[in-house]
Amino acid sequence: MASNIKLAEAPESYSGPGFQATSFDKIIGLARANSLWPLPFATSCCGIEFMATMGSHYDLARFGSERPSFSPRQADMLLVAGTIAKKMGPILKQVYLQMAEPRWVIAIGACASSGGIFDTYSVLQGIDRIIPVDVYVPGCPPRPEQILEGVIQVQELAKNESLRRRNTEEYQKLLNSYSIQ
Ligand code: SF4
Repeated sequence: MASNIKLAEAPESYSGPGFQATSFDKIIGLARANSLWPLPFATSCCGIEFMATMGSHYDLARFGSERPSFSPRQADMLLVAGTIAKKMGPILKQVYLQMAEPRWVIAIGACASSGGIFDTYSVLQGIDRIIPVDVYVPGCPPRPEQILEGVIQVQELAKNESLRRRNTEEYQKLLNSYSIQ
């Protein structure tokens, strides 16, 4: 019976009888990219779109991310979906800080990206005011396909990231700009 299961693409490598060689970065990147564990920080309507993304029709499990974690210590992809009130800011930052490196952040929808339609005194005008964001997904709300595209973008980042990036001065500077040590 024909199978339409698509295997993850192997990294660039040299192979011969009985061996295949590639760089350590590429193997780690391949594993990380296909086993991202999401932590859904869903506060409002965009969270419903995330639920659809997890459901059988869109099936985030196809990308190796079927295991949502509500413990930050066991997640490496923070999905912020919904309006973030300024009062929630410190909680969101604490969740981010409790995640182990390497960690990636997706701002899902207009509210998480920029405050959306809520240009008011009580709403955070984008989560990048308190934590670094890797991928922004536009829309109010974004369709599940767009959320999947955001996850694919994070997969690309994970796949191509140098193992040393998190120790670089540039990365430390980025964290310091958010008062994160
Ligand atoms: S971006 Fe739109 S759909 Fe998403 S949480 Fe904000 S108001 Fe709701």
